[in-house]
Amino acid sequence: MKPAFPEQIALYINGEFVSSANGESFTNINPFTNETINTVSEGTQEDISRAVAAAKQAFKIWGKMKVEQRMKHLYKIAELIDRDIKEIALLESLDTGLPIAQTKKMVGRAADNFRFYAEMVKNRMVGEAYCVDDEFMNYTVHKPVGVAGLITPWNAPFMLETWKVAPALATGNTVVLKPAEWSPLTANKLAEIVHEAGLPEGVFNVVHGFGETAGAALVAHPDVQLISFTGETKTGSEIMKNGADALKRFSMELGGKSPIIVFEDCDIERALDACVWGIFSFNGERCTANSRLFVQNSIQDEFVARLKERVDNIIVGDPAHEDTEVGPLIHTEHYENVKRYLEIAKREGAEIYGADVPANLSKGNFVPPTLLLGVTNDMTVAQEEIFGPVLSVISFSSEEEVIEMANDVKYGLAGYVWTNDMKKGHRVAGAVEAGMLWVNSQNVRDLRIPFGGSKSSGIGREGGHYAFEFYTELKVIHVALGDHHIQQFGKKRKT
Ligand code: NAD
Repeated sequence: MKPAFPEQIALYINGEFVSSANGESFTNINPFTNETINTVSEGTQEDISRAVAAAKQAFKIWGKMKVEQRMKHLYKIAELIDRDIKEIALLESLDTGLPIAQTKKMVGRAADNFRFYAEMVKNRMVGEAYCVDDEFMNYTVHKPVGVAGLITPWNAPFMLETWKVAPALATGNTVVLKPAEWSPLTANKLAEIVHEAGLPEGVFNVVHGFGETAGAALVAHPDVQLISFTGETKTGSEIMKNGADALKRFSMELGGKSPIIVFEDCDIERALDACVWGIFSFNGERCTANSRLFVQNSIQDEFVARLKERVDNIIVGDPAHEDTEVGPLIHTEHYENVKRYLEIAKREGAEIYGADVPANLSKGNFVPPTLLLGVTNDMTVAQEEIFGPVLSVISFSSEEEVIEMANDVKYGLAGYVWTNDMKKGHRVAGAVEAGMLWVNSQNVRDLRIPFGGSKSSGIGREGGHYAFEFYTELKVIHVALGDHHIQQFGKKRKT
């Protein structure tokens, strides 16, 4: 099957596919060949203004629509995603270099996002009554906030876009999505699906373009009430600065440098499986990747020897092949950055273990699965997010020492603990400073569970009812049932 996509991707504004106001476009590159896939209309401030105006207008209808009616639209979107799932997985793989076997699994979750939030609003878009007696009734209602600005990254783009779009729409907000410039194909596919699903015009808009122009204009727009952002920590902080004057509501899902802690008493085979998958799947371009391995001294030699064996056997190649486990990195700029970290690692005294890239893959942005051995926690490669298939290996002797090292980093997104001593497992999971911890497991996810990080990895949580809270305004209404006494003013003066 060959996935279909337009020669030039258009913006989707007010229910129409349109060119950018200035007629400019940019090139979308295939990371496997570094050849052009297609071009993309480059949205700027003027296009953002058009999209926000359309969303503001559409909010008047969508925000007041009966929940059951909105649910029907969301179910339709889910149905169309399911229908086109193979094509979406192919588009995602072509655009990002993620292996097809992995994009297939990931995009499957996108349809679930729509169904999950459709069900959630049915149950949650109700208020609660407080202090009801003969005199008063006080009750709460959840209202949509308004126009939601959603800014998304290039890793797992379709899943991450729908992860925001579904709760935003379900709760009655209208949306302007600014997808990442390196992965526009599936954002365009989402616009096509929403269009086919027949949502009222202006409810969902997509403006492609660069962060500094289109993204910044969305953040600055006075009619955008909330910004949900996923991306790099430094971009998140820039966005918060730019939205501070208008006191926007922010959700921030940012970078990570997550530890996997392997104690000597763990099930080594399972810990190995988890560690290898957790850093090398999705080309290592995963926010929750376990990019720092802390392995206990006593099993270090055995664990590292077996890690090397696994690394030697990982299948690196064409992301379109079903067997491929690691594909090319998204873009030459990102590839150069990952290579730069390998140079830094060498300079700082780490040993680099990884194969050379086979000659037949020389056109793509390939970094082979790499181990950095003999790393200490103060090295740059143990502190900064590399966002590639590169694992820093650090040894430890005691529980206290490893907790201290695990926490001695600015990030706090995820963490993984491997031990057969469950008391220790709970203790360490409780002590590691991160938003999400897994004990003897790897990234098992459930849509009901909160997702997000602490420290420089984010603010707020997505998923479950946490997304519901973010995308709604809680309002309380006080009503008198009787003629209760009201303070008298302006009645005392005698004329
Ligand atoms: P990025 O920060 O470079 O870009 C993300 C988005 O922000 C893009 O759409 C970009 O155009 C836009 N942008 C850039 N500058 C902007 C500005 N000044 N104003 C408004 N928008 C702007 O991130 P990336 O390189 O696309 O993604 C990789 C990063 O995302 C990694 O750090 C990764 O850890 C993080 N990430 C986090 C999570 C999470 O849930 N915590 C999930 C996935 C990815």
